[in-house]
Amino acid sequence: MSIRTRVPALMAAAGVSFFGWGGPAVTPVDGKEYDFVIVGSGSAGSVLASRLSEDPNVSVLLLEAGKDNNHFDVHHMSRVAQLQNTAFDWAFRSQPEKSTNGRVHYLPRGKALGGSSSINGAVYVRCPPEDYNEWAQKWGCKGWDYKTLLPYFMKSERLQDESGNPVKLPAHGNDGPLAVTYFTLEQAEKQLSPWIGHIYRSFVNAGIDKATDDYHSGDFRGVAVTQHNVDRGIRADSFTTWIKKTGAIDRKNLTVVPCSQATKIVIDGKTATGVQLRQGETSDELRKAKDQVVKAKKEVILSAGAYGSPWLLLLSGIGPASQLQSVGIRPIVDLPAVGKNLKDHLYVSVPFATNQQIFSVYRPGLDMIQASFDGLVRGRGFTAYLPYQVIVHTDSGVDPKKLKPDLQIYGMPLFIAGPANSFADVKKASNVNPIDPTGKYPYAYTMMPTLLNPKSAGSVTLKSSDPIEYPIVEHRFLEHPDDVEVLIRGMQLCRKAAATEPLKGLTTEEILDQDLLKTAGASDSREYMEKFVRSKAVTVYHPTSTCRMGPDSDRNSVVDLSLKVKGVKNLRVVDASVFPDIVMGNTNAPVYAVAERAADIIKEEHGLAK
Ligand SMILES: Cc1cc2nc3c(=O)[nH]c(=O)nc-3n(C[C@H](O)[C@H](O)[C@H](O)COP(=O)(O)OP(=O)(O)OC[C@H]3O[C@@H](n4cnc5c(N)ncnc54)[C@H](O)[C@@H]3O)c2cc1C
Repeated sequence: MSIRTRVPALMAAAGVSFFGWGGPAVTPVDGKEYDFVIVGSGSAGSVLASRLSEDPNVSVLLLEAGKDNNHFDVHHMSRVAQLQNTAFDWAFRSQPEKSTNGRVHYLPRGKALGGSSSINGAVYVRCPPEDYNEWAQKWGCKGWDYKTLLPYFMKSERLQDESGNPVKLPAHGNDGPLAVTYFTLEQAEKQLSPWIGHIYRSFVNAGIDKATDDYHSGDFRGVAVTQHNVDRGIRADSFTTWIKKTGAIDRKNLTVVPCSQATKIVIDGKTATGVQLRQGETSDELRKAKDQVVKAKKEVILSAGAYGSPWLLLLSGIGPASQLQSVGIRPIVDLPAVGKNLKDHLYVSVPFATNQQIFSVYRPGLDMIQASFDGLVRGRGFTAYLPYQVIVHTDSGVDPKKLKPDLQIYGMPLFIAGPANSFADVKKASNVNPIDPTGKYPYAYTMMPTLLNPKSAGSVTLKSSDPIEYPIVEHRFLEHPDDVEVLIRGMQLCRKAAATEPLKGLTTEEILDQDLLKTAGASDSREYMEKFVRSKAVTVYHPTSTCRMGPDSDRNSVVDLSLKVKGVKNLRVVDASVFPDIVMGNTNAPVYAVAERAADIIKEEHGLAK
């Protein structure tokens, strides 16, 4: 994309969103009939709508609670923080979580065409093969092993370099719709930041794990450069990728309707026959809107996400009977696992100050201004991607029996946990106090150890039968002591890397929490680290497993191996909620693979053209 085409494209994107031009219309659907009604146009819903509507003989309705995602802030990764707590974000909140000092956690979820893929970090991780093999073997989900899913990952992908040229690597695809931008270490050091090399080499030199060129085609474990769903500077969200770029948006048999919140699945006996919904953008508009009912001749498919799908099942009378009765909902199917088994990843930010040249959002120099220009106008360079540009997958050693890596560490050549400014507002974004509130350390890099295999699990339950009132989300973060240990071990590994060359010679000090030092003693004390983890850990936004898939014998599951809701006909769930267990890495790519496979299952069952 040249500058001559990019600048008008950027202006158009901004103009469209500011003035409300373009995008699918909010058309009434009351009384209409479609073969498939899909609720939620997020990562899973967009894939499904695209794939199912490939058969011109079936009609597909894609309902989305949020609005069009054609917005400047959605397209540009440097604007990602600006999407939080806006109309593009459901902005759920947890209950006060007792094991994180009673904090109420901010839980963003995309509310727009493209769902969470429109507001996420676009970091691309398919997760290790062991995850899917465990789904198949440990959890009895035959047909969901890595060997079966790998072709679906590859089918989605278009692996490319920063300029959009194909990159050929084993076990990757080049013909799919989803842009995956790949950098070698040398390219990343040159094109993004030399600090990527410093951080990468220090992790390797410290013996934390081996260097790896690609965490997908080789061993998942190791130190690598992050891959991104960004296409020459523009976010590759699911709606743009699967609905717009594939041309599905122009198909006569696909109808996309935004600003339409499903409030109930219509169930006749034990068969889903349609969806009740209201149209509007805000809660006030939704409360005033009239109920509409759209009919599904073949199936209703929920792709409303790990909070949204159980929420809708519960509102529809599918869930633990006693819980439903307690809020005045008549149970239709007693399914105890609906909303249970909620898992998520948590991380802490461990920053280190430097007196060397590094990008800074607190004292932006010419380098940052140039990088911002390159990102926005040329679609390349440091700000065109999330700054989480080094990625490590390794073992914490907390559970020696563990076969899967349980620790992910991001390395970021930037510091954002200082005072609020227009680039970074940690308090607003994650509801934790900034570690450097006075702005003493404008120049720093950050490492972020992430707990991948939490043993704590939470739930989504109804507060009331009012479909507009948000559900109660209880994560129970860090309730299991091993979860705290993994993060403490992660902090120690980050410190080890920072104390190893080349970072050693570039680092002046770790930026410590001064308030904690006063009450918890030395920074290397167990007390300091545990208190640090409990006061600073936040979600990495990867909730899963609230409508777990499982074989018929598994009472702790919601959907069967074809993702059909147990005990109800013509109703499926396809999204992150069906994961039998959380994966050891970022969740977006796994959702795409699950949705691609689900589309094939559905096509086969209904005899649709593939
Ligand atoms: C801030 C953030 C950063 C993240 N960063 C990354 C990352 O860098 N890499 C990564 O791999 N993963 C990341 N994730 C996670 C990843 O984006 C999600 O796991 C994935 O998008 C989930 O897909 P889904 O289809 O399950 O749900 P979603 O994509 O959330 O889709 C659900 C859709 O359903 C709609 N919906 C919900 N309820 C209703 C209703 N009642 N009626 C109609 N529509 C409804 C929602 O508005 C939404 O569009 C991030 C997530 C967030 C929020």
